[in-house]
Amino acid sequence: MSDNVSAFGAHVAFFESHESEVRSYCRRLPALLKSANGAVIIDDKGRSYVDFMSACGALNYGHNHPRLKAAALNYIQQDGIAASLDFHTIAKYRFLNGLYDQILTPRKLDYKVQFPGPTGANCVEAAMKLARKATGRETVVAFTNAFHGVSLGALSATASSAVRKSARGSLNGVVRLPYDGYHGAGLDDLLRFRAMAKDLSGGIDPPAAFVVETVQGEGGLNVASEGWLAALADVAKDLGALLIVDDVQAGCGRTGTFFSFERAGIVPDLVCLAKSISGYGFPMSLLLVKPEFDVWSPGEHNGTFRGNSLAFVTAHAAIELWDGGFEKAIEDRSALLEDWCHSLQEEFADQLKSKGLGMMRGLEFVTPDHAIAAADLAAQSRIVIECCGPRDEVLKIMAPINIDLDLFRATLARLADIVRTVLKPRQSYIQRLQRNEAGLDSHDDRGYPISRSQFPHRVADMKFDGLLRN
Ligand code: PMP
Repeated sequence: MSDNVSAFGAHVAFFESHESEVRSYCRRLPALLKSANGAVIIDDKGRSYVDFMSACGALNYGHNHPRLKAAALNYIQQDGIAASLDFHTIAKYRFLNGLYDQILTPRKLDYKVQFPGPTGANCVEAAMKLARKATGRETVVAFTNAFHGVSLGALSATASSAVRKSARGSLNGVVRLPYDGYHGAGLDDLLRFRAMAKDLSGGIDPPAAFVVETVQGEGGLNVASEGWLAALADVAKDLGALLIVDDVQAGCGRTGTFFSFERAGIVPDLVCLAKSISGYGFPMSLLLVKPEFDVWSPGEHNGTFRGNSLAFVTAHAAIELWDGGFEKAIEDRSALLEDWCHSLQEEFADQLKSKGLGMMRGLEFVTPDHAIAAADLAAQSRIVIECCGPRDEVLKIMAPINIDLDLFRATLARLADIVRTVLKPRQSYIQRLQRNEAGLDSHDDRGYPISRSQFPHRVADMKFDGLLRN
């Protein structure tokens, strides 16, 4: 019997033999998950886990937010329309009204709303197709370390070789530019590209669009500066190309404001939202389109699941949370997280760097194996967390943006201890063990280790197993 079967239960073997090898996150957390509330997940054995992943940014408001749950239950109770074709439903009507009243109009944003298929990737594909149609051009400019999804069109804009190789074919129509800060890149690179695209002998066809994340979530929590984003918007305009902001991960409050681009004072031509737009984890995406670029023919980007009514209901309730005081709540939690990252960076100046913005922050480890080892120990301590960046070198903290402050503080303290355990000479850890402080904390249940071999990311090289399991 494998470690995971004995620790987590027979379901592990069942899933292994019945579900495809493409399984991913469940390899990191093999428990049979039963219920969840806020930032706490409970498994079938009653063990609790603190969620520092928020379903990869799809649960910014936490699990089963009571106001969203009440709205969903009420809608089902009343036999609300559940199908997802793009009929005029009351659920969609209310959501759109709320989106305009609560989010778009106060920000003076003039967009029409398109509902693509419910994934982020489908939304990015819709944006790329629409930009191509609106401009009559083909090339889309995307950036180093970008992540835009794994379906073929979106994958062409994604930079990660680990996922690009899955295409086993050409990923055409995308030109790659260095993101702000990539090996020292900055404004000059944008301006040089603009000069080349304008030069009759520059050898570059003018692009249809630039697609950008203002903070790269999967690519390593890289933050584009406000100046660079503003310059990008100018360059796009100057070249007659559309600016697409992919706010699938950084949007819905994750960086502190509803849209991640607000800090730069730019108004993108197209904005992709997915993940947390429904607020409840229900699949839903939307594309904001400047009216002049809404050149679709009816049904041209069609699909059966473009109007998830239940998602509209919870999305409407989620948007109502933004009615006063919510940004302050995110700010308080962001400040706590920022201090935490900075103080660890100070403590381990030669080994760590604080990265990210708002409630999408983390620690970049000089040695990627250390990041993986920290994530591994965190998992054993029942903190649900993942690494990001091209070499999984960044420990990424994506707690719900409204996480209970005491729980946040306490879990960050536990995580700091874990980081110290990884980075301090092993001797100090052994001394702690000898002083009988072996457990990292009350959550460090060493009876239920999560085996490193279950992680889809690279496996840490550190020999902690003996220490932890003795
Ligand atoms: N864009 C960004 C910025 C993302 O982070 C992701 C998902 N991690 C996607 C697009 C793709 O979204 P989905 O997984 O829903 O297709």
